[in-house]
Amino acid sequence: MLFTSITLNSICLLFPSANTYFFMVQAQGIMLRDNVRTIGQMIRLYTNKNSTLNGTDYPDGTNSSEYLAQPTTYLPENFTYAQNLPCPERLPSMKGLMEVNMTEVPMEVIEMKFSKFFGVEFGGQWKPKDCRPRWKVAILIPFRNRHEHLPILFQHLIPMLQRQRLHFGFYVIEQSGSQPFNRAMLFNVGFMEAMKDLDWDCLIFHDVDHIPENDRNYYGCGQMPRHFAAKLDKYMYILPYSEFFGGVSGLTVDQFWKINGFPNAFWGWGGEDDDLWNRVQYADLNVTRPEGEIGKYKSIPHHHRGEVQFLGRYKLLRYSKERQHLDGLNNLHYSPHISLSSLYKNISVDLYPELAPITEY
Ligand code: BGC
Repeated sequence: MLFTSITLNSICLLFPSANTYFFMVQAQGIMLRDNVRTIGQMIRLYTNKNSTLNGTDYPDGTNSSEYLAQPTTYLPENFTYAQNLPCPERLPSMKGLMEVNMTEVPMEVIEMKFSKFFGVEFGGQWKPKDCRPRWKVAILIPFRNRHEHLPILFQHLIPMLQRQRLHFGFYVIEQSGSQPFNRAMLFNVGFMEAMKDLDWDCLIFHDVDHIPENDRNYYGCGQMPRHFAAKLDKYMYILPYSEFFGGVSGLTVDQFWKINGFPNAFWGWGGEDDDLWNRVQYADLNVTRPEGEIGKYKSIPHHHRGEVQFLGRYKLLRYSKERQHLDGLNNLHYSPHISLSSLYKNISVDLYPELAPITEY
């Protein structure tokens, strides 16, 4: 062991580029450890029956509910809508599993299709005309360098949300500058900006590379925060651990204020969704998830282009409770550049740690 570390240090001194190499090896080790942690958690889920229902309406994994018939309570095809009545939640237009097509498509084609033929207004809003939408939903999408993913997401999401007869608006919050990606702070910025447009009542926090596979995954909010992306193809459609809150989640505006939003202190990949989970628990809320096949998602395959892991996340997660009311919506400063596109509002923002000062805890 001693020999190995002396040898590695001397090699690094002789060849500075070796440092980079060993850092990469070390980072890979950390990723491996994460995977092992995840696998460990999966084993716990399978062996400890009591932990499986934590925060979930369905038993995890390949459990009996998978093979039970899907709910049959969806309204019949001949259901008639009334303009003055709220749109129902289980509509005949929501058919279940959808085709997912990951083929790249130019944004202009998608823009043309949805603004011309699907009635999406310039700037990305739409609402049904034949009933009163139950929820006004702001879809927030944090973004950097993923231009080919956005049209694929819109292509699947817009028809699904229209079939669900929700009033929706898209916000793409794009991080400029050279700091590591801060997904959570982008969500906070998106929230503050979206609320200037309209009195949204439901917020969906949506990764750009997560494509829903089932249009019965209703993007309205509820009494409790919701984790929509319960089953990801990249995790073999198994919830990786019971506190997993990544990919796509949703909170009402009141719930989001109550938990003080996302933390701003997570720079780089990982941990911010775990911290949000903790915030929800400390605010005496629970997380619900769609059952059975409804929570399935495919992720667009890609390389993490230069994105760094946030190695400090475990330390921060130990103090989620102490930080919750010091860091979030209440210490956030930023200067956005805003522009409108056919299908969304673009909020471009340079982020750096001084924008969210935190007092000692
Ligand atoms: C990270 C989360 C991530 C999860 C699944 C965890 O180790 O902290 O941010 O969502 O792994 O990839």
